Amino acid sequence: MITRRSALKSAALASAGLFISTSLTRALAQAAAPSGPHKLPELGYAFEALEPFIDRQTMEIHHGKHHAAYVGNLNRALADYPDLQKLSAEELIANLDKVPEKIRTAVRNNAGGHANHSLFWKSLKKDADPLDSGPLQEALGELFGDKETGEKMFFDKAMGVFGSGWVWISVDKDKKLILESTPNQDSPLMAGRKPLFGLDVWEHAYYLKYQNRRADYVKAVVSLVNWPFLNERFEKLTA
Ligand code: MN
Repeated sequence: MITRRSALKSAALASAGLFISTSLTRALAQAAAPSGPHKLPELGYAFEALEPFIDRQTMEIHHGKHHAAYVGNLNRALADYPDLQKLSAEELIANLDKVPEKIRTAVRNNAGGHANHSLFWKSLKKDADPLDSGPLQEALGELFGDKETGEKMFFDKAMGVFGSGWVWISVDKDKKLILESTPNQDSPLMAGRKPLFGLDVWEHAYYLKYQNRRADYVKAVVSLVNWPFLNERFEKLTA
């Protein structure tokens, strides 16, 4: 038989349990996305918008888990450094020598990851208008010669990245384009160059759909380049 006393006790325990589980949920949510100056940017289009080249599930996990983790880890690394919290991810990785050694690796990896992915999402679009003319097309011509050779050089560079990294078309200090690759989440900004376009060749970017077939993924993404966005970005970077 349930006495009044034991009923009250059960209610108190239940409410304590509820309290613990609510606090735990909140704590876990905060651990996943600690508050701080850096926020996960909107993708800017639906998760399935790049299908069939990049599948919805890959986009959900890549943006909502991987990119979100870089943002969370960056905020965590900067928690005790209010002055550094005022800098953008790009400013941080361009000035790693000003970041205390204690958090330098965390900032390098996570500000890098945040900046790289923020640019990557904006650089992709299905059925984007092609690049017909203008300064970017001329600069690409100087770097690559014709379009076919350019795609081959870019493809070879992407296939040549051992392990995890990025392939970049960047703007150097003379406002010329260069083709380069970086390991991990490193950025051309770390070498004083400005990234125009970066291709993520980490396996997390393609494994669900393409498994180990990086070549198929690279070919797919080359068909998704948002040329109007890059054209505008090139003008800004070389202004
Ligand atoms: Mn990635």
